[in-house]
Amino acid sequence: MDQAKDLMPAGVNCPVRAFGAVGGDPIYFAKGEGALLTDVDGNTYVDHVCSWGPLILGHCHPGVITAVEEAASRGTSYGAPHEGEILLAQTIVQAMPWIQMLRCVNSGTEATMSAIRLARAATGRDRILKFEGNYHGHVDSLLVKAGSGVATFGLPDSAGVPEAMTRDTLVAPFNHLDVVEEIFTQQGESIAAVIVEPVAGNMGVVPPRDGFLRGLREVTERHGALLIFDEVITGFRVSPSGAAGLYQITPDLVCLGKTIGGGLPVGAYGGRRDLMEQVAPLGPVYQAGTLSGNPLALAAGLATLENLSREVYEELERKSAVLEQGLTAAVSNCGVKAHLNRVGSMLSVFFTDRQVEDNETAFSTDRDLYGRLFHGLLKRGVYPPPSALETWFVSAAHDDSQIEHTVKAFQAALEEALNN
Ligand code: PMP
Repeated sequence: MDQAKDLMPAGVNCPVRAFGAVGGDPIYFAKGEGALLTDVDGNTYVDHVCSWGPLILGHCHPGVITAVEEAASRGTSYGAPHEGEILLAQTIVQAMPWIQMLRCVNSGTEATMSAIRLARAATGRDRILKFEGNYHGHVDSLLVKAGSGVATFGLPDSAGVPEAMTRDTLVAPFNHLDVVEEIFTQQGESIAAVIVEPVAGNMGVVPPRDGFLRGLREVTERHGALLIFDEVITGFRVSPSGAAGLYQITPDLVCLGKTIGGGLPVGAYGGRRDLMEQVAPLGPVYQAGTLSGNPLALAAGLATLENLSREVYEELERKSAVLEQGLTAAVSNCGVKAHLNRVGSMLSVFFTDRQVEDNETAFSTDRDLYGRLFHGLLKRGVYPPPSALETWFVSAAHDDSQIEHTVKAFQAALEEALNN
């Protein structure tokens, strides 16, 4: 760890990995298999981070590994078109017909950055409306009241982002349509787009209230602004057609990542054809990438999506419901006030007596208790997200006994945490 800290900021390549919100040093992992992670000392953990979402099939799914090996044997990158790009694009377009055209990039951050650029170009407007506690990657203009690591560390904005970069970023509380309406009434003619995590996953899991997403669709349409769904977490996770399919709302643009890369670096943005036709070289909106559409990454993504049958989603739902019930019972056995939020295989436990519906309520929860619980879970062979404001995931590889292990460990760790 000292060696790592000497070489990399806090010894990590992504801030949330540093355990800043829960204390202690991060664990070094040696391998993942199915629902399990093994650390360098040989300890195993039931993994509920799942690489922060991409591993919907678990670690080392044979179909994904074979696809990557086969792709690697044909070369790691061509810097030119290849068939895998068409196959992945076809799969996405079939699952999400509101995506008529798409462009692959290398991360979720690139996807949101590019979608914002396109929205501004297409509308000729500069302003973007985002929500408190929604995280859209580390794009300068979107690092305002962002969730995930930014929230965890209590940084309102990042240093190094000039004020000019965020001047056109408006912020509203998640799930508060009345505030959105008011902002549009005042400055609707200057707003290019609303970008939203349709199910928030970066302040813990916060589902949209009934009518919230529909309301966003209506207000944007009324004012000639675009609606961008950031489905980097929810795409192919909460349903075969993502959150847009689950809630039956048609966005103009969608950002994808995580699951569509099956654990390799992939993002994508796509949507209405008339919008995507404005992307270079067809149109004037420049966006590019040396490794975009990388054959290994797309092979992993395609193999992942091909393995996501209806039955897999049904099983994910069943197992996640079992986990939710188990954790709810454990919380009540311990006499703690808590709320569980769950949408499909995304779940969060909030220690609070209030419903968690926005950033304010997510922040008012007992995060110290979560930190103590976290360490008790690690001791008992469960790896939950190292922050109360992140999402727990269930993968297709989790079996009933592993879910049961998590529930038992949770109850024991919670009892211990309450006594400390
Ligand atoms: N959007 C959302 C909703 C995310 O959760 C994340 C990452 N957690 C991103 C965008 C950024 O993706 P990446 O880390 O791949 O850049």
